[in-house]
Amino acid sequence: MKHLRIGIPRGLLFYSYAESWKRFFQDLGCETISSPETTADILKEGIRHTVSDLCLPVKSFLGHVAVLKDHVDLLFIPRHVSMEQESYLCPKMIGLPDMTRACFASLPRVLDPLFHVKQFGDKAIDEFTRPVAESLSLTPSRVADAYREHMDHTTEVPAEQHRRSERLLAEEAVVPRFSGKMNIGIIGRPYLLFDRYLSKNLFHFTRKLGANPLSFRPDETEIREAMAVIPKWVYWDMGKEVVAAAHVFFKDDRIDGVINLCSATCGPDSFTGDLIRKRLNQRNKPYMSLSLDEHTSDVGVQTRLEAFIDMIAKVTA
Ligand code: SF4
Repeated sequence: MKHLRIGIPRGLLFYSYAESWKRFFQDLGCETISSPETTADILKEGIRHTVSDLCLPVKSFLGHVAVLKDHVDLLFIPRHVSMEQESYLCPKMIGLPDMTRACFASLPRVLDPLFHVKQFGDKAIDEFTRPVAESLSLTPSRVADAYREHMDHTTEVPAEQHRRSERLLAEEAVVPRFSGKMNIGIIGRPYLLFDRYLSKNLFHFTRKLGANPLSFRPDETEIREAMAVIPKWVYWDMGKEVVAAAHVFFKDDRIDGVINLCSATCGPDSFTGDLIRKRLNQRNKPYMSLSLDEHTSDVGVQTRLEAFIDMIAKVTA
């Protein structure tokens, strides 16, 4: 097999699975190349290649494709449809390989294996690894073995895979811990929270203002508990984690306020944001939703953050 360079754009599910993906391809004898952290120029490139009503994370993702596309043999853009029986990923994520092909006049080959537990059940891994085997001229069993070794992904416990990857990537992530300072729970999708540029460095500025930012990924029990108090199960993968994290933070007396970092023009976020505001018992806890798009300025976010922290200080004084 020719030594192939596989490009992995630093956006969207990269923030959940990148380390697993890299180990998987490296085991198969490939070199993996990721784009650098998001910058203003990368986002600008993404915007240049797309239409205006897409969400910020997808625009940024396309900017990362632009950075990588002339330096790799294959672009890895998996089509994740469902990671478990109970939920789907959002349509923009499902259509990502097609959207990427439509936005660029020239691209290297796009490797877009399908992951769809709802449709394929126990065979989801085989369905995912077969096109990878074809593209890399390897046997399906060799690729499936590498998948099981590095993704550690049984279809029943996707949360475990999330946790494993998150630990490796999350320089900005903080696990719940409590200090004498004001504790602010920050919820949102990993690709917004942990992309420093897109999140406007929210963790850093929260610390700079003297508060303690906290973020975590809820486990299966916490998700089920949160779903039990709202009228309808959240069928969006990651959306239900956001709702569950809000539920846990609202219940915890050590948390002084909660910020929901979300994306303007995101359908699932508008639905989960509404659920969080109207259906979860907030116990009078201060809550702020920060909706981001490419026009959001650092100063705008910092001003709202300052006002939020000042307001909590006054209420708790
Ligand atoms: S869930 Fe929302 S933010 Fe994420 S890709 Fe879909 S529309 Fe964009």
